[in-house]
Order: sequence, then structure tokens, then C-alpha cells
Amino acid sequence: MALGQGSMHDVLRALRGIQDLDLDIFRVSRELKRLPSERAQRRAEIDSKIARCEDVEKELSTLRTKIKEIEDDTTIQRQRMRKVETESNKTRGDAALLAAFQHERQSLRRSISEAEEEGLRFVEQADELESRATALRAEVAAEEATFAELSGNVDREVGDASKKLEALQAERKARLGADVEADVLTTYERLLQAREGIALAMLEGRTCQECFMEVPPNVFVKLSRGIDLIQCPSCDRILYLPDA
Ligand SMILES: [Zn+2]
Repeated sequence: MALGQGSMHDVLRALRGIQDLDLDIFRVSRELKRLPSERAQRRAEIDSKIARCEDVEKELSTLRTKIKEIEDDTTIQRQRMRKVETESNKTRGDAALLAAFQHERQSLRRSISEAEEEGLRFVEQADELESRATALRAEVAAEEATFAELSGNVDREVGDASKKLEALQAERKARLGADVEADVLTTYERLLQAREGIALAMLEGRTCQECFMEVPPNVFVKLSRGIDLIQCPSCDRILYLPDA
């Protein structure tokens, strides 16, 4: 883009006048994105732990229902056992009936013993789940407290950064004036985003002071002429020469 002789100097001077502000603006804007995103990530971590805790509690509740069912079953079997014993005492020597009662008692005894073993295993599992749920609940409570503090800090920092950003942008607007054409400004602003907030680079000798690559002689010559906007062939930044 060719501009009138001398005006490229003004353009570069104008851009150099806002580069420091733009670096600050770039950094503050990044903070404004980073802070809420870190908070959201922390929130998601705690929510996932809460979900884990709820899963454990659900499992625990299912297990307790099973334990209750086993207890109810064995109660009924014990009642049946007592009834069989009473009936058995009343048989008065009927061998076939006695044998049948004997058989039922054995089978009830075995069944009760198996149910009791299973019940015991479930109780152990339930105890383990209970202590896991307790530990998770305690972790969640501690993390919620830390999160509340973090969240307050983020709100404060975002508030401060927003105010700072507003002030920087006002200052930038005041400094920029009308020296820079829209397409040059677009190139400059695109480079700010692409190059971590630094769109300009001083050329010292033939070395770009941002990427430290040497530019070809013709780039130096074109830049010295002061007519065109010249970018570093390596890092793309807009080049300027040190003040004489
Ligand atoms: Zn460079």
C-alpha cells in the first residue's frame, strides 16, 4: 500500500504510540477470558465430584434395600422353622412325616445361613460405601468453601480488569487520532491477536528485534524509503526503523 511520502512515518509513529497500550489491552482481555473460564472449570470439577457422591449414595440405598429384604426373608424363614419344630413335636412317631419335617428344617437352616452370609457381605459393602460417601461429602464441602472464595476473587478481578480495559481503550482512542488508515489498522490489529499483543518490530541493522531473524537487503531498502508498510518476512510484524 503506497501512501504519500512521509506519511508512512506518521503512520508508524501513530502505531508505536498505541503499541504499549495494545499490549496491555491484549493481556487484560486475556485475563478477562481466563478468569471466568478457570472458575467454570473448577465448578465442573466440583459438580462431577457431587455426581460421584450421589452415585455412591444411590448404590448405598439400593444395598440397604437388599439388606432389609434379606432380613425380612430370614425372619419369615425363622418363623417357619419354629412352626416346623412345633409340628414336628406333634407327629408322635409318624416316621415319614418326621423325615419330611427334618428335611424341611435342614433346608431352612441352610437357606437362613446362606442369607445371613450374604447379608453380612452386603453390610460390609454398605459400610465401605458409607465411609466413601462421607469422605466425598467432606471433600465437596471443603471444595465448595474454597470455590466460594475463588468465585468472589474472580468477580473482583474481573471488575478491576474491566475498569482497566475501559481506561486503556479510552486512552488508545485519544492517542490514535486519525493518522492511520483503516486497512493498515486492520493489519496491525490482526497481528496484535496473532502475535501475543505485539504487532510492531524494530529493525536494527537487518535484524528484526522481535523474532531476531535477518531480513533480506531489499526489505531494509524498502523500509528506509518510508513509502510502504513493510512486514517482517519471518514473523509478519510491521517493521519500523529506530529513531535517528
Ligand atoms: Zn520478525
